[in-house]
Amino acid sequence: MEITNNYPKVQAGTPHFLMLPWLAPGHLIPTIDIARLLAEHNAAVTIITTPVNAARIKPTIDRSNAASAGNISLVSLYFPATEVGLPEGCENIDLVPSMPLVYNFCQATKLFRQQVSRYIRELAPRVSCIISGMGYVWAVDVAHELGVPCFIFHGFGSFALCCSEILHKTKEHEDEVLVPASSAEPFIISGLPFEFKITRKELPLHFPQSKEMKEIGEEMRSYELAVDGILVNSFEQLEPGYADLLQNLSGKKVFTMGPVSVCNTKMMDMEERGNKPTVSTHRCIQWLDSKKPKSVVYVSFGSTGSFAPKQFKELGLGLLASQWPFVWVIKDIEKLPEETLIWLRENFEDKNSSRSLLIKGWAPQIAILSHPAVGGFLTHCGWNSTLESVAAGVPVVAWPLYSEQFLNVKLIVDVLKIGVSVGAREAMAFRGDKEDGIRVWKEDVVKAIEKLMNGEEERKRVAQLKEKAEMALEKGGSSFLNLESLIQSVAP
Ligand code: UDP
Repeated sequence: MEITNNYPKVQAGTPHFLMLPWLAPGHLIPTIDIARLLAEHNAAVTIITTPVNAARIKPTIDRSNAASAGNISLVSLYFPATEVGLPEGCENIDLVPSMPLVYNFCQATKLFRQQVSRYIRELAPRVSCIISGMGYVWAVDVAHELGVPCFIFHGFGSFALCCSEILHKTKEHEDEVLVPASSAEPFIISGLPFEFKITRKELPLHFPQSKEMKEIGEEMRSYELAVDGILVNSFEQLEPGYADLLQNLSGKKVFTMGPVSVCNTKMMDMEERGNKPTVSTHRCIQWLDSKKPKSVVYVSFGSTGSFAPKQFKELGLGLLASQWPFVWVIKDIEKLPEETLIWLRENFEDKNSSRSLLIKGWAPQIAILSHPAVGGFLTHCGWNSTLESVAAGVPVVAWPLYSEQFLNVKLIVDVLKIGVSVGAREAMAFRGDKEDGIRVWKEDVVKAIEKLMNGEEERKRVAQLKEKAEMALEKGGSSFLNLESLIQSVAP
C-alpha cells in the first residue's frame, strides 16, 4: 500500500494536531477515532506511524477523509526493528514474538525518534500540539523543542490513572513489610472515595518487577511528569469525579472525550477497525440473526489475550457447560498443540456449530457487540472493550489478564455494578503464561455467565450508561465540549 509522505497543507488559523499513536492495537484504534473526532471539529490532524501500522489504519482514514473535509494526513516512516534484533516488520506490540522482546521493542521505539524528528522539522511552523502514546517517552522533548504542548494518551480510564498516580506517589505497593512481593495479601490504595484493596499480583504492568522493565517504567514516569496534559477516552458519567481527581493528583489538565468508538456509525467502520477481520461480518451477522435477543455471550480477550492449552480448554468447557450460545474469538491459535485443535474442532465446530461461532484471529468487535442478540461480553476488561461494551449497552463477565485490567474490574463490578467477576486473582504474563496451569475453572466461568445472563440489574444499569455515552458525544455533551476546549487551548 503506497503512502506518500507529503507535508500536509494546513490553512492559517487552523489548529493542527500531530498524533503519535503508541504501537499497540488498543492504542492505535482509539487514537484514530480521536483523530476523526478532531477532524469533525474542523481541526487538522497528521498521524505519524510505521508502514505496517499505516497499512492497518489507512482504509479507515481514507473513508473518514472521503466523508468529511479530508483533513487527516497519514505519514508512514521507517521503523528500526531489525536494528534491535526484532524480526523485520515487527512494528506493533501484537507482533512481538515473546515477552523478553518487549524490551527490544521499546528500544526500537526510541530510535524511531530520529525519523520522526527529521520529518517534523519541516512541518514545525504548522504544528499546534503533539498528542502522543504512552511509550513515546521522547515526544515531550520533541514538542517542547517545537515550542508546542504535548498531551499524553495512555489509553487507560480516569479511575485506573488515578490509582496509578497514587501508587507512584505513595509507593504503598513497595512496602516489603506490609506487602511482600510474593504475597496475595491485599493492601489499600489510599485517597480514593472508597476503600479499594489490591494485591501485588494484580498490579498493572507498568509497575514492573524486572530490572530492565523497571528502567522503562522509570522513563515512562518521567515522560508522564513532563507532559502538558492528559487525554482520556472516557466520559464524566462513567467515571464520576475521577477526571477531576486525576487533575488534582497529577496537576495536569485532563480532557475526557469518549467513548470515541461511538464515531463508528457506518458498517464498514465497525467492521474494519484496527485490522482486517478474519471472518466475514456478513456471516457473523447471519449467525447472530438466528439467535434470540440478548441470548449470546461474546467472548474475547482483546488484541493479544490468549491462554496456554489447559486454561484454554477449561474456558471452552465452561462455555459449553453454560446454557447460552456464544461467539468465541481465539487469538494465537497457532500456539495451541494439535490435540487441542482437534478437541476444538470436534466439540465446537462439528458438534455444536449452531451454539458456537469461533473466530480465529481478528473479530469485527463493535459490529458484533451492537447486534441485538448479544446479551453479555466475557472480556479481559481492556479499557477499549469496556467502553465498547458500555456504548453497546452490553453488561460484562470480567476476566482480567494483565496491564491495568484488574483496576478496570473494580470500577466495572464494584463501582458501576455493570458486570460480574469470574474471580481471576493474579495477572498473567503479557502474551500468555509459560506454565500450562489453570487459574479460572470451568465452574467459575459457568457461574459468572449464568449470574450475568439471568440477572437484570447489570443490564439495566449499562443501558442507562449507553444513553449517557451517546449524549456525551452529541453537540453540547461533556465529551463534545471537552474536545472543543482542547482545540481552543492550542488554537494558533
Ligand atoms: N478488537 C477487535 N477485534 C478483535 C480484538 C480486538 O476489533 O478481535 C479491538 C477492540 O474492539 C478494541 C481493541 O481491539 O477496540 C482492544 O483494546 P482493549 O483495550 O480492549 O484491549 P487490548 O488489546 O489493549 O488488551
